Amino acid sequence: MTLTCVAGLGVSGRAVARVLAERGERVVVVESTPGERQLAAAAELSGRGVEVRFGPLELPDGATRLVSTGWAPHHPLIAAAGAAGVEVMGEVELAWRLRPAQAAPWLALTGTNGKTTVVRMLTAILLAAGRKAVAVGNVGVPVIEAVREPYDVLAVELSSFQLHWSSTLAPHAAAVLNVAPDHLDWHGSMAEYAAAKGRIFERAGTVIHNADDPEAVRLAAPYPRAVGFTLRSPRAGQVGVVEDLLVDRAFVADPAETAEELATLADVRPLAPHNVANALAAAALARSLDVPAEAVRQGLRDFVPDPHRMAHVDRVGEVDYVDDSKATNPHAAAAALSSYPSIVWVAGGQLKGADVDEVVRMAAGRLRGAVLLGVDRGRIAEALARHAPNVPVVDISGQDTGVMDRVVTEASRLASPGDTVLLSPAGASLDMFANYPARGEAFARAVHALKAAT
Ligand code: ADP
Repeated sequence: MTLTCVAGLGVSGRAVARVLAERGERVVVVESTPGERQLAAAAELSGRGVEVRFGPLELPDGATRLVSTGWAPHHPLIAAAGAAGVEVMGEVELAWRLRPAQAAPWLALTGTNGKTTVVRMLTAILLAAGRKAVAVGNVGVPVIEAVREPYDVLAVELSSFQLHWSSTLAPHAAAVLNVAPDHLDWHGSMAEYAAAKGRIFERAGTVIHNADDPEAVRLAAPYPRAVGFTLRSPRAGQVGVVEDLLVDRAFVADPAETAEELATLADVRPLAPHNVANALAAAALARSLDVPAEAVRQGLRDFVPDPHRMAHVDRVGEVDYVDDSKATNPHAAAAALSSYPSIVWVAGGQLKGADVDEVVRMAAGRLRGAVLLGVDRGRIAEALARHAPNVPVVDISGQDTGVMDRVVTEASRLASPGDTVLLSPAGASLDMFANYPARGEAFARAVHALKAAT
């Protein structure tokens, strides 16, 4: 009989344990931290016949499978499983293997940035087309729960961690949005990180890639009929932009001769180049399932951006304050920094091994000032000194709860009318905040306080 060891009591770990227990399989969840949330989860799972073991993480005797929910390959528990010949897989891989025979097709996507945005745009388009669709994966709903529900199609967001632990997924279509350095501490190297992303294509029915992103192009190169999306005028076999229109020259009867209009640039919100690329990716994935052009347009209009992604907080003294706290790597910050002409940049946090020189060089001409916080702020300061030596920089030390008030006060001093104070940190938040929403909310509170005081 199988005995599955589930690593960790997170959202997907709990879902895996619940589903396997319902199937009558033996499950042991191992978890190091007996915090309040973990103890509540353990009580709930025990009632369903799942054993939860707190303490040092050890593989239970007789385990035949280890489900890892995002743990690094060099983690001792994973290494122990490897040494014992126990198969290691992720929640998504297990969901794929356990899906019912008539399961809904998957439209899967990955990328360094834009995954949540594209999966939400895609879901809106599918719903506009009258398909029963749901956004799953990295966005919240565990795939292992969704595969059992009667959906027509699943819009699946996959992180590089989930792809690392997947080996047999065969989505109807798969897209790589972009590939830039991130999570190098987890994957070990850029080559490993890109290889994990590339796994999404291996068994995909249709391969879709960002034709403007060299690394995505490289990953799609082995697939001769890959569909590209581009901000330029599309060639046959691509979707792209012609003047102010999003057009399809891939999923049409005669790509050599015809192009079909899908939407206008005004249908894309917020209207910024990276987000037009996101809309094209979502459109291409939907079109692989024969979704009509009108539904693409309607879905893009219905789409509501998630918080903390270039979200306008308020305007104080003719200065706009924008919360892009979700920019947890330099590539995401680069997208926001190219979207405003005159910026006081609020940045810092954990860079996770990524290099900020390129983004600083690219943005130098638009920067009116910078306010730096968090553990890796010194590295951003060095990059600013190299590439933007005339930009005034304020260094904010300290970890106290009032830190964002000081950040916003300093930023407001550096800003002139017409400027944008942009929180787009380029790093993760965990050195100072519970998560990126907490960082964004602290920023927004400080902006509201500033407004109240003026
Ligand atoms: P993910 O789910 O991959 O983290 P999100 O849609 O949540 O992606 O966006 C993460 C961050 O990246 C936000 O700061 C957002 O403004 C930015 N972003 C969104 N799409 C792109 C893109 N195509 N290229 C670069 N940055 C992007």
